[in-house]
Amino acid sequence: MSMAPAITTEPALTLPVLDRFGRPLRSLRVSVTDRCNLRCAYCMPEPQYAWLKREEILHFEEIAELVEIFSQLGVDNVRLTGGEPLLRHGLARLIRMLAANERLRELSLTTNGLLLAGQAQSLRDAGLTRVTVSLDTLRPDRFRSLAHRDGLPEVLAGIAAARRAGFAHLKLNTVIMRGFNEDELGALLELGRDLGAEVRFIEYMDVGGATRWSMEQVFSRDEMLASLERRYGAIERLAPEEVSAPATRFRLRDGTTFGIISSTTHPFCRACDRARLTPDGLWLLCLYARDGVNLKATLRSGAGRDQIAATIAQAWSARRDRGAEERQALHARGVLFPVEDLRRNPHLEMHTRGG
Ligand code: SAM
Ligand code: SF4
Ligand code: SF4
Repeated sequence: MSMAPAITTEPALTLPVLDRFGRPLRSLRVSVTDRCNLRCAYCMPEPQYAWLKREEILHFEEIAELVEIFSQLGVDNVRLTGGEPLLRHGLARLIRMLAANERLRELSLTTNGLLLAGQAQSLRDAGLTRVTVSLDTLRPDRFRSLAHRDGLPEVLAGIAAARRAGFAHLKLNTVIMRGFNEDELGALLELGRDLGAEVRFIEYMDVGGATRWSMEQVFSRDEMLASLERRYGAIERLAPEEVSAPATRFRLRDGTTFGIISSTTHPFCRACDRARLTPDGLWLLCLYARDGVNLKATLRSGAGRDQIAATIAQAWSARRDRGAEERQALHARGVLFPVEDLRRNPHLEMHTRGG
């Protein structure tokens, strides 16, 4: 007697998985902790926060399993972030696990740099390919007023250690806020040039957690370019490294290159291939999303890889998010979420979902 073929209820997945606007799922930002050792004014300006419960945080094995599934669906670029990712105990072990995944083309990290000097070499040895360090000012007094603690020497030592450890293509992330650090554009650019690190200036964004945001404090991409042009002469716009790259790249006459991430005034949602995983396994399809898909619950319920992959593919296929474009279209633009909502739901915070 011949056996009837097994009936599968899920259609076979075809890659890449495309959302409703034809955008593939390529890039995953994994926030490994919501804790942070700084309190940057644009990200964590409140005196108190509601934290995720420790027992809710994904184990490294769970993160690696989800990344494996995402990579089977087309993700080849993973960035570890937070909160401050270097606060997560034993991070190099996670990096080693992820680096064993041959589908990943990039495995990078965004850090505030405070703890980088002591960890750069072990992160590199574990298989991390790129590091981005956030640095908004070269003035110690400003650093303290922005981040609510001292730390500039540690961050600079962290950048130096990352170079010594052999990280090529170092990047510096700098949020520019009007009335705070727009007068340091040139100094930061020159520091980046001297260190062999490309600076990416970021417009102040009205993300969750930015409870003091206002449009008046946004120093726009056009203003940044005008200011740099006054100082350095004509600036050339470069072709993007990748269509989905968030930064537009430019070059000064002396060859120094830099990027500007202008999500506030020039959103780039139409090419967005990014999604985010919170430390407790909520998968967010947009930086501005109110809610996401609880992959930890699916994983801990005992679902198999195929079932989790189908859940992810189905959600991505239905994705219509274009959060930054919708924010830009608003007539009156204020903060994204009131403090009471953030207290009730820490998943709305930038330091939970990762920048
Ligand atoms: N703690 C790490 C750090 O600061 O690099 C990683 C997490 S942090 C949330 C990631 C990035 O988000 C940082 O480069 C930070 O400057 C950026 N960021 C946070 N809040 C922002 C805001 N309101 N506007 C623009 N960028 C922001
Ligand atoms: Fe600053 Fe990053 Fe911490 Fe936010 S998560 S407060 S941007 S260091
Ligand atoms: Fe992507 Fe959402 Fe950011 Fe737009 S706002 S670029 S859709 S994550």
